[in-house]
Amino acid sequence: MNPIYLDHSATTPVRSEVLEAMHPYFMEIYGNASSFHTFGQKAKKALEDSREKVAEVLGALPEEIVFTSGGTEATNMAVKGALQGNLEKGNQIITSSIEHHATLHTCQYLERRGYEVTYLPVDRWGRLDPEDVEKALTDKTVLISVMHANNEVGTIQPLEEIGTMARSRGVLVHTDAVQSVGKITVDVNELKVDFLSLSAHKFYGPKGVGVLYVRKGVPFDALFQGGHHEWSRRPGTENIPAIVGLGRAIELAAEEMDEVSTRERALRDRLWSAIEAGIEDSYMNGHPIDRIPPILNVSFDFVDGESVILNLDLSGIAVSTGSACTSGDLEPSHVLLAMGIPPRRSQGAVRFSLGRETTQEEIDYTAAVLTETISRLRSMSPAYADRKRR
Ligand code: PLP
Repeated sequence: MNPIYLDHSATTPVRSEVLEAMHPYFMEIYGNASSFHTFGQKAKKALEDSREKVAEVLGALPEEIVFTSGGTEATNMAVKGALQGNLEKGNQIITSSIEHHATLHTCQYLERRGYEVTYLPVDRWGRLDPEDVEKALTDKTVLISVMHANNEVGTIQPLEEIGTMARSRGVLVHTDAVQSVGKITVDVNELKVDFLSLSAHKFYGPKGVGVLYVRKGVPFDALFQGGHHEWSRRPGTENIPAIVGLGRAIELAAEEMDEVSTRERALRDRLWSAIEAGIEDSYMNGHPIDRIPPILNVSFDFVDGESVILNLDLSGIAVSTGSACTSGDLEPSHVLLAMGIPPRRSQGAVRFSLGRETTQEEIDYTAAVLTETISRLRSMSPAYADRKRR
């Protein structure tokens, strides 16, 4: 069996069609998109074509699309830019306790500088209650930042309801849609958001390139100062090969979304059925229905998620404990703790994230290796022996 990659929520390989689209922009069409000559204008055309592709998928206008170096930068731009651009309105931001660190650490940074941040709790499925969001509003609230789909458990937030309520109260909304773009429909008008972050490497595009959607007319300050690139909202010479790759990747992801999602959902459910039937004391984390198709997060009692990952890796299977940015960190996941999952059970969590090329054979093999691995690890656990004796 070839190595099996079930960590697509951490990152994905670049698709051959994407690489092919990017290729001419390294050595042939290498002009600076701000230059007036033909070299520059060809690069400019590629930049604008890509912007149009992104806008079309998100239901946005091309001028609302700002290219960035990825999801983290887009989120920093949105959160800091919205607050800085609306200082006369207030200094409060509302977010959830299960955001990616791109949002959480940005909020903590702002808190240290005197802004007020409200971190809202979630239920046991990892969902925010829109009523809690409404109750947290004050006359100083500038921004609500709530992720679309969670990167550890896949739960989808009721953004439409939050967006509708926020709009009626004159409050801006940002969503981190890094995990949802390309997996489920993401339309900025249906979701009623003012800012949205996405990242190409989560949908078979290159790393180091992303987008911040900024609704037309919304007051917003740039994070960086420099040239007039991206209407001065994100200065710096544009990374044309990466931007072309992002455009091609989002176009392909949108075209194939229904077919790929149906397949991933079926395989994910097959994996869970095998785990549920074959491994006692295993618990699925995340919303049973309102969840993006590729993610299955499971806690196995009496084992550490890190040991499971290392052992599966030795068998050629790549999975993770949750966020790639926190793996290696032995603290239980802040997402699972916020969902009320006890620390011990949070530490036994493993995230399987499927991809467009995942096969049934790979899933069946993973289930078999996992069953054997958990049983072997538990045979070394005194707590498990105790439980068996009782
Ligand atoms: N937000 C979420 C939900 C993510 O999963 C990630 C990536 O792990 C990011 C933000 C950061 O994106 P990037 O790696 O493009 O900076």
